[in-house]
Amino acid sequence: YDLRNEDLKELQELGQGNGGSVKKVEHTPSGKIMAKKIVLIDAKPSVRKQILRELQIMHDCHSDYIISFYGAFLADPNICICMEYMDKGSLDGIYKKIGPIDIDIVGKVALAVLEGLTYLYDVHRIIHRDIKPSNILCNSSGQIKICDFGVSGELINSIADTFVGTSTYMSPERIQGAPYTVKSDVWSLGISLIELALGRFPFSDSSSDSDLSDDPEGTLSPRRPPSVGPGLSLSSVVNGGARTAKKTSKKDKRKSKGVSLQGGGMTMSILELLQHIVNEPAPRLTPEGRFPREAEEFVDACLFKDPEVRWTPKDLLKHKWIDRARTETIDLEAWTSTF
Ligand code: ADP
Ligand code: MG
Repeated sequence: YDLRNEDLKELQELGQGNGGSVKKVEHTPSGKIMAKKIVLIDAKPSVRKQILRELQIMHDCHSDYIISFYGAFLADPNICICMEYMDKGSLDGIYKKIGPIDIDIVGKVALAVLEGLTYLYDVHRIIHRDIKPSNILCNSSGQIKICDFGVSGELINSIADTFVGTSTYMSPERIQGAPYTVKSDVWSLGISLIELALGRFPFSDSSSDSDLSDDPEGTLSPRRPPSVGPGLSLSSVVNGGARTAKKTSKKDKRKSKGVSLQGGGMTMSILELLQHIVNEPAPRLTPEGRFPREAEEFVDACLFKDPEVRWTPKDLLKHKWIDRARTETIDLEAWTSTF
């Protein structure tokens, strides 16, 4: 497609993220329905052109588990990225609508994400960097695909200059400043799978400090995962804030509970959350016995806090639970017709 902004008719707003917004559009010359992501970039023209060049790699990404790319162009002051439209939206929207997702379907999600990650890394040496339920999309043919991977170093830099993205799926080593590896994606996958199976973000007061919880049953969930707001540097938050906050007594914690950087029912401040990820045991698929043993073990393998011990996507593709997911005959197309 030779894409020009004038040829794209906006049909519907699909959602808003940190970097911009996504719209359902029709490419009028061809009649093709697409998703157009509009990213506001504060960068020099030379950098914007560089970003556009880097995005072209996406033309070479062909996998059943990766969103197709139709093209990108500059529409000052934005960069527009046109991609395959997924008519059932992202998994965060789906579980917020229908509640916790059946563990056999979560198994299919795990399989699809691992296949996508393995393709990106083996074929293109790309690390995704932003695995989370809102970047895992479904369509009414029952396909599950990942989107929003980090193809463009310059794009990552330009966005990082204006905000620090949602960081709550971030691995302990990343929070502490280690570089990204495929294993950071595996951590984010583990957190995402628990979120889908429980129908709520796994880090919350009720799962960590039950004595502080006013919602022991988790009835107030789902809780929104918080994000780091503009101007907050992640490493300064963690390294500068950790010591003082560690001293915080439970009483003080109770007082600060509910203080939110971004609102929306968040019960842990971003600082508490980042500290929690670094200092406390990783979350697990609980309560014990509710889910198949293989699923519990798979999630544990994703969430070893030590990245050396954590499994790689390749290892995980050989896990018992994934074998089971492969042969599982559940009808995803029928499932997507229920919402
Ligand atoms: P985030 O992923 O942080 O939510 P984005 O700007 O990437 O922010 O996307 C906003 C929303 O748009 C997503 O939550 C998703 O529901 C929707 N979306 C993104 N890409 C597509 C697509 N290709 N097809 C359908 N919906 C999409
Ligand atoms: Mg996204």
